Amino acid sequence: TSSEALAAYDDYLGAHRHLPSLAGLDARDISAWFGDHQVLDRVSLSMKAGRVTALIGPSGCGKSTFLRILNRMHELVPGAGLAGEVLLDGVDIYDAARRLTDARRQVGMVFQKPNPFPAMSIYDNVLAGLKLTGQRKTRSEKDALVEECLIKGGLWREVRDRLRQPGGALSGGQQQRLCIARSLAVRPRVLLMDEPCSALDPTSTRVIEETIKELVAEVTIVIVTHNMQQAQRISDHCAFFLAEQGTPGYIVEHGPTEAMFSTPQDPRTSDYVHGRF
Ligand code: ADP
Ligand code: MG
Repeated sequence: TSSEALAAYDDYLGAHRHLPSLAGLDARDISAWFGDHQVLDRVSLSMKAGRVTALIGPSGCGKSTFLRILNRMHELVPGAGLAGEVLLDGVDIYDAARRLTDARRQVGMVFQKPNPFPAMSIYDNVLAGLKLTGQRKTRSEKDALVEECLIKGGLWREVRDRLRQPGGALSGGQQQRLCIARSLAVRPRVLLMDEPCSALDPTSTRVIEETIKELVAEVTIVIVTHNMQQAQRISDHCAFFLAEQGTPGYIVEHGPTEAMFSTPQDPRTSDYVHGRF
């Protein structure tokens, strides 16, 4: 039965918690509504493990909505409707037998505006998501996890001597790296990033890009970006979303990033990636 299969899968995940994720994330025929307003129309996309997948396209074409569907945040919006499925390593995250917190833990999210808990210490910010996992940790396990996540987030060297200072005292770029570290602490299999550098200066942006390139070895990454240079620098695969006058958003074309920029199949992709939109 499917619940036996799920239980077996959960055992498998338990035993392999520290291994890199496997297949990645598969969105199949995703349509989305806000009330009567359809904003996505049968979007299918494989976001494979070991890759950075970039979602590009003009404002309002449903990229953020698509990301929120991938970690079950869309269903929190009153009136939100959804069709289709999202498979994480082959298992539907919307399966009724799977708990919501499970999907949230396995698929982390970083937003455009850094949102650490400003009054909470840097140390406690990193650990803030652990209640999702329900795991108890000793003080030394926590110390080790904070260090590991801050190293992976590219922030450790800057904050190691002031872990008790509030997250809100950091610069914008540092706050965003703190948010990345926080999302890593629950050991997600996928990290969704919605324009994570749009609010940051170029130096912070570069640091985060380097972080992303290293992280993809252990967590599948899906990033929305309006910056075409950034998409080319960091992504392996690219999907071009579009919503034409009153129609819901859909994927015009997707493929290896290099091909999307050098030999796009659709003239609208070509126009968009070359800034003629
Ligand atoms: P993008 O991230 O590509 O700019 P969004 O996913 O934010 O696009 O928005 C897609 C469409 O959904 C837009 O028409 C937007 O106005 C609409 N939309 C987004 N969020 C909501 C919401 N909470 N309620 C109603 N409509 C929304
Ligand atoms: Mg958006």
